[in-house]
Amino acid sequence: MTGTNKIPFLDLASVHAELEEELVEVFRNALRSAAFIGGPAVEQFEHEFAEFCDTRFCVGVGSGTDALRFALMAAGVGLDDAVVTVPNTFIATAEAISQCGALPRFVDVDERTYNMDAGRLADYLADGCVRNDRNGKLVDRQTGRGVKAIVPVHLYGQMADMDPILELAEKYDLLVIEDGCQAHGAEYSARRDNCWKKAGSMGRAAAFSFYPGKNLGACGEAGAVTTNDAELAQKVRVLRDHGQARKYYHEMEGYNGRLDSIQAGILRIKLRHLAAWNEKRRECASRYQELLGSVQEGIVLPYAPSWAKAVYHLYVVRVQNRDQLQKHLGDAGIGTGIHYPIPLHLQKAYRNLGYRKGDFPVSEGAAAEALSLPMYPGLGYVQQERIVRQVLDFVCGETSARTSSASSVRLTTLAVQGG
Ligand SMILES: *Cc1c(COP(=O)(O)O)cnc(C)c1O
Repeated sequence: MTGTNKIPFLDLASVHAELEEELVEVFRNALRSAAFIGGPAVEQFEHEFAEFCDTRFCVGVGSGTDALRFALMAAGVGLDDAVVTVPNTFIATAEAISQCGALPRFVDVDERTYNMDAGRLADYLADGCVRNDRNGKLVDRQTGRGVKAIVPVHLYGQMADMDPILELAEKYDLLVIEDGCQAHGAEYSARRDNCWKKAGSMGRAAAFSFYPGKNLGACGEAGAVTTNDAELAQKVRVLRDHGQARKYYHEMEGYNGRLDSIQAGILRIKLRHLAAWNEKRRECASRYQELLGSVQEGIVLPYAPSWAKAVYHLYVVRVQNRDQLQKHLGDAGIGTGIHYPIPLHLQKAYRNLGYRKGDFPVSEGAAAEALSLPMYPGLGYVQQERIVRQVLDFVCGETSARTSSASSVRLTTLAVQGG
């Protein structure tokens, strides 16, 4: 396979090539004005991103991890608390929880969406926790920690099913902080309010990452907190800047977690294209669906519930011999990714949490079988056809090897999933 024939997993360079003049102009302006930290670009971006998310406030910070950590801290999560999230996510979700002094507690994900399973959350809150007799607070049975918050993750650009999660949060008096780091622009049809809502506008606050490979990416590290809560937004502003609202007057110990002005300027330019890029990702996803939808066995395609509009940060399929498929595609010059190979409860870093293999079977199954195919706005039809041909080649080969004859491979047209 020659270099030019390769299909990368992600292609950032072409996007930046199209915007190069504008992006370089940001850097030139920063050099000339010597405004590197804070300044108008940061505030303008915050204003524009809040508008994009349908929230009142946005506070730019140094990364998605900062955003999660600051949002949790500003919401009042701290020492001795427990926070419920999922094991099928990037480690930053859990790092942010423990780094503000709390303990991550996991509930498994839904088989189809790979996001928090509200039924399992309900079971955990009802059976895994007890009410403290003295103050009526919810306490995790195993650790004795007070349960304070829920962090649903909108993984792969797909919304978690927020209605039942928000209902449980109300019932048990818990905060909801969304991890929207993979879901800039995703939407959820809130049955309770009978309207579509943007990722980042549904919990008390939300965290976004602008790591270069995200749907909206900086040219370096960046992140943001969105919220409708003025007080929480102000606390995040203080936390990101060494605990000061006024220079050298420190209300508390904070962090160096600011968004710098060059990244803010770059994000402003790229934000103008985000809606169109997300639309292109959706087109790529439906093309995959069309081209792969005829295969009835051996591969599971992403589920597209009628109550959400995904932004396909990743296009994740499931196959039994995932590692072999990855190798097969790699040999054909096609880049892929695995998100994520080890669920958090089985990571060495979280041995202290006391979970075991078998505790979260859905997450463990996804970790063993999920493969992310190339997905980015500039992915072309011809490229997708080539990817799909290789996937089918592998999947149908596998299926016919398992059954007695190749003729038993059924290529039936599957209806395009709508709900
Ligand atoms: C990327 C990501 C983060 C962390 O963002 P950084 O900007 O890399 O710190 C957190 N959660 C999820 C789900 C992510 O994908």
